[in-house]
Amino acid sequence: MRIIVTGGAGFIGSAVVRHLVLNKGDEVLNLDKLTYAGTETSVRAVSNREGYRFVQADVCDRAAVAQLIENFRPERIMHLAAESHVDRSITGAKDFIDTNVMGTFTMLECARQYWLTLSSKEKEAFRFLHVSTDEVYGSLGDEGLFTEQTPYDPSSPYSASKAASDHLAKAWARTYGMPVVVSNCSNNYGPYHFPEKLIPLIILNALGQKPLPVYGSGTNIRDWLYVEDHARALDIIAERGKIGETYNVGGRNERRNIDVVIRICELMDRLRPQAQPHSSLITYVTDRPGHDARYAIDANKLETELGWKAEENFDTGIEKTVRWYLENEWWWSPLRQDYSGSRLGLLSEKKASV
Ligand code: NAD
Repeated sequence: MRIIVTGGAGFIGSAVVRHLVLNKGDEVLNLDKLTYAGTETSVRAVSNREGYRFVQADVCDRAAVAQLIENFRPERIMHLAAESHVDRSITGAKDFIDTNVMGTFTMLECARQYWLTLSSKEKEAFRFLHVSTDEVYGSLGDEGLFTEQTPYDPSSPYSASKAASDHLAKAWARTYGMPVVVSNCSNNYGPYHFPEKLIPLIILNALGQKPLPVYGSGTNIRDWLYVEDHARALDIIAERGKIGETYNVGGRNERRNIDVVIRICELMDRLRPQAQPHSSLITYVTDRPGHDARYAIDANKLETELGWKAEENFDTGIEKTVRWYLENEWWWSPLRQDYSGSRLGLLSEKKASV
């Protein structure tokens, strides 16, 4: 299959590219702008494979995107390119509106113009998968799960921009009959995760004996999914998902942030013992504004209708992740150089530039 993956030099996109090329033998065009969050080193494992191509381009650049689609003639587009870091959206929302809203609009329009030129058989087989987040649903209380019917209620500029892009994607299915499918996923973790996100930040700060910053009291709950499970889910949703529908993706692994940090400390105590336990480095910092209390996904539809199941639970996945960071300094060391290892979403400490 010929597949365009946008954002394929990022965390989840690179897992998708590696899965499609290495496990499925697909022909992949990786379209990525290479922002601070994208690096070609994340797809080093496929870079010499026949059938893999990388093009540095912006999803907002309509002429470039249209040309790439026309030349490559994809049977499927998997749209992952986005500004993805909530903290950065608080101090600089514009890039999020540009890439997540206007970029998704541009991808949908270019895909539609191309789709209109296909034969009826090709039209029917074509799929556009729009990849999104459970953060569009807002925050949960102590009980309940996000389902595909949960009303949208985003809190941050990031989740609001993703919500807007989801509505565009569904409108393109309803209005133009485009074969679009949408996925909304819980928090991912695993190899090649940019070092400013919670889990890699804690692993690398623990390794460097630096403070381990935890927002507020650390009681916010996230539902963690191992990134390679997500990559498989996205392939299955693009292949078998019903047009115009949404599929929630989650690993049924709810954890309080502080418990995630403590688990990493325990693994580090075993794998890199120090005089003091690593948990002595935990430091509570001022909470992120608008910090959602709890996210948890009901992935029943994806599991029962499309037959996907997560292979990793949190304990197996987090151990693999910690070991991966310890063994792959070549990947994260250059990315850490520009980054202090603190949390970013603190309005009081940074000048907001919206
Ligand atoms: P990431 O920040 O690691 O990677 C994003 C990639 O998109 C980078 O390679 C970047 O260079 C590229 N990009 C950014 N702006 C671009 C532009 N204008 N044109 C082309 N490329 C551009 O993000 P991620 O964590 O891999 O997330 C991928 C997708 O999955 C996003 O749409 C995100 O909203 C969604 N998602 C992420 C999570 C998560 O836990 N990380 C959970 C659910 C959904």
